[in-house]
Amino acid sequence: MGSNNRVMSENAEFERQCKVNPERLQDSLEVLASFGMVPGKGITRPSFSRSYEQARAWLKSEAESAGLLAYDDAVGNLFIRYGDRDRPCVMSGSHVDTVPGGGPFDGAYGVLGAIEVARRLKETKENATVAFEAAAFVEEEGRYYDLLGSKALAGQMSLEEIEEARDSSGAPLMEAMKSAGFSPERFAEAKRESGDILAYVELHIEQGPVLESKNIPIGIVDEITGGRQIEYVFAGESGHAGTVPMDLRRDAFTGALEFIHGARAHVLETGTPGRVRTTFGTVEVSPGFPSRIPDRCLVIQEIRDFSQQKLDELVSASVAHAQTCARKYRLDVSSREICAASPARMSSRVTAKIREAAQATDSDFITMPSGAGHDAQVIASIAPAGMIFVPSKGGISHRHDEWTDFEFLERGANVLLNSILLILRDSNFDPTIQSEF
Ligand SMILES: [Zn+2]
Repeated sequence: MGSNNRVMSENAEFERQCKVNPERLQDSLEVLASFGMVPGKGITRPSFSRSYEQARAWLKSEAESAGLLAYDDAVGNLFIRYGDRDRPCVMSGSHVDTVPGGGPFDGAYGVLGAIEVARRLKETKENATVAFEAAAFVEEEGRYYDLLGSKALAGQMSLEEIEEARDSSGAPLMEAMKSAGFSPERFAEAKRESGDILAYVELHIEQGPVLESKNIPIGIVDEITGGRQIEYVFAGESGHAGTVPMDLRRDAFTGALEFIHGARAHVLETGTPGRVRTTFGTVEVSPGFPSRIPDRCLVIQEIRDFSQQKLDELVSASVAHAQTCARKYRLDVSSREICAASPARMSSRVTAKIREAAQATDSDFITMPSGAGHDAQVIASIAPAGMIFVPSKGGISHRHDEWTDFEFLERGANVLLNSILLILRDSNFDPTIQSEF
């Protein structure tokens, strides 16, 4: 009887260790959503803005009041640590910047899920030989520079790129960083040494319709798409829309239109079938007056594919096609890549732990690719990485009405907590034993 009781209380203790505090998680999601929120219009919280810095200060005060160490790096990433500063760590995180008019969970959920894990480790006095860090990577959404925080951490950027980065209104990244108290010229200090991060797990809403349509609560990501954005500027000559004959025109928009049509068809024909994407989300025609021939047309093309080789080929072919179209209409064209993220495969070792955690929490799951970019694809270049998805209502994200029911948010956070516990307790992730990802 006595030993049975002990077994039962040990089980209860184990159960308690493996669950997040749901009320606290829900409350924290609500508070974080209030920074930059305009009722009915969603959350606008770009990196280094006033609302972003208020959110950062609140996250720090929450962490510190829980007895955890909170610190920023040189580019503005925020880390919350459980365990000694000089130990390597297992990391989980995401971002708290938003697109204009964004929703409450994109990025925020992964950061608050990771902080909840740190709090649970502290509360249950988890005795790990390595540390755990929750990360809020700055500038994932790329107001100035796509995936700035994770790229700086992975050593994938240069000072030149930081100096050149501007938002769509022309405001420089350098100024934004300085006004928030960071020193852009010290960006290299944000780079982590190899072996410093033993594993990375990111919790995120799916931002697509797959999990909801299959009625499955958990997605385990096996690979993340790569993406490239290329800006083209077609330049011709303006003139009177009535007096200049059609065959004597140098109409910048006509050349751009033929380029868009041809490049789209080529990308769909030659990219990975069913998985390639291309979008022309920005087209600016100047001077933009009905009776004037356009002398300038700016086009931004985005291409996504899961194969790096395909991406390289598709970008080269699109640039060549822009030149062909420009020649046909006697235009000049310039092109430049404005951002690039490599496709990434998730680590089979990390993914196996997430699968085990899903089973331990009685969660149905599927393995799936991510068609959206995430910090995890950058961190995957320096540490074994994995991702956990939960369903997005209607597949909607990057909108004010983005939603996920709390039962899924809680379940996903419990899968994250269990994944981290399994990794922390597995000596194979210990740096003294680790040989390869
Ligand atoms: Zn995100």
